[in-house]
Amino acid sequence: MSFDSLGLASHLLRAVVDEGYTEPTPVQRKAIPIVLAGRDLLAAAQTGTGKTAAFVLPMLQRLGEGDPAGTARSAAPGRVPPPVRALVLAPTRELALQVEESVRTYGRHRPVRSAAIYGGVGFSPQASALRKGAPIVVATPGRLLDHVAQRTIDLSRVEILVLDEADRMLDMGFIRDIRRVLALLPARRQSLLFSATFSSDIRDLAEGLLVDPATVDVAPRNSAAELVDQVVIPVDRERKREALVHLVASGRVSQALVFTRTKHGANRLAEQLGRDGIAAAAIHGNKSQAQRVRALGDFKAGRVGILVATDIAARGLDIEALPHVVNYELPMVASDYVHRIGRTGRAGVGGQAISLVCVDEADLLRDIQRLLQRPLPSTVIPGLEPDRSVRAEPIRLRSAGAAPRGGAGRRAAPAPRRGGMPSGRDVRGAAARHPVALPGERLRRAAGIAPAVHSSAATTKGRATR
Ligand code: AMP
Repeated sequence: MSFDSLGLASHLLRAVVDEGYTEPTPVQRKAIPIVLAGRDLLAAAQTGTGKTAAFVLPMLQRLGEGDPAGTARSAAPGRVPPPVRALVLAPTRELALQVEESVRTYGRHRPVRSAAIYGGVGFSPQASALRKGAPIVVATPGRLLDHVAQRTIDLSRVEILVLDEADRMLDMGFIRDIRRVLALLPARRQSLLFSATFSSDIRDLAEGLLVDPATVDVAPRNSAAELVDQVVIPVDRERKREALVHLVASGRVSQALVFTRTKHGANRLAEQLGRDGIAAAAIHGNKSQAQRVRALGDFKAGRVGILVATDIAARGLDIEALPHVVNYELPMVASDYVHRIGRTGRAGVGGQAISLVCVDEADLLRDIQRLLQRPLPSTVIPGLEPDRSVRAEPIRLRSAGAAPRGGAGRRAAPAPRRGGMPSGRDVRGAAARHPVALPGERLRRAAGIAPAVHSSAATTKGRATR
């Protein structure tokens, strides 16, 4: 099936051809006609499925229909600017920037003025962009509300609302901000909600937001997991870096996004790799916008082979055809594993996810396998076989050097378990012993473990994006 049959205008089809897309992805095939018809939409689609084009292309067309020439106009000084007609809410500034870039990319043959509104950068340039008029605004919720408070934006004439990565926005604690934004929008509008998962919270949100929505579910949960070749490498806690260096030196890994649990861990690993002669950069919430953009640019251009990232920072990064994701440390929440490995195997291109797993992480690995509903194959690196007599230690979530709020030695981690590395056999055994009952992260939440990770991440991000 080609793009031609979706009902898109010729200037949009040209932009699609310019991008080298030969056929629509499943979410595009299903969602574009629905959005063009003006219906509300609830779409389950992860990053990497082509979801951005699935809403940006028809959104551009609908705005063009209403106002063929006016969307590109900028307001002359002293004149009332054209209203905001489409609002896209996104969880992070990276995603907001990427969506806005897509608006410019797909709109290149009939430009529509757009603005990206996100925290962590100056307010005035955004205010002046809004004053000139931006019919399309892509925003993170906190900073958008700051503009509302300062009366630098008027949302009363929005025709199309998109919530992108709605599940991440809820995870990051944006629900109240979202509801405040919704209250400012006209009741008569088209609303689109994109989410990787359909949790009950998402359904609640959708219920109050969407009117008679069409639903598109192209990516059953965790489908990214099926595209990606996944392997576990058991290794001692202290020898993970050696293992990573070996993977790079042996050519098994060339360009990779490497995940750590903490910002401090990301920095330290990037520095250590540099000393090992491997060009690496770190990207996380404490880096300035300029530093992040530079790190991402260096990585995309191949100037650095390893980009070390935390979960929050990596969300929404638009990196095409990434061959490898390395879990240097497993995430505390199993669903984050699925998000991480979704960074490779994008748009149908296969990729590999390698997890370096030490004895401390056996419970986390078990949770991930429960969520995936299958065991992951495991292989050791000769010479780096784990010492099976080493006992598990609790995982520290706070960076070394940062004083824990709850007193010295506060730990948020699974209880120490008796030693024993997950060998391939252990791994399969663990999965078999625990038939899928509940997704792992729900168990963790119930145990009060996940909130420690999520709330700290949410607080940091919430502040950073305002
Ligand atoms: P997204 O899910 O929107 O983050 O898109 C993931 C990646 O897929 C982006 O890098 C897009 O450029 C790319 N992409 C989007 N649509 C297509 C398509 N129809 N064919 C090939 N690649 C695509």
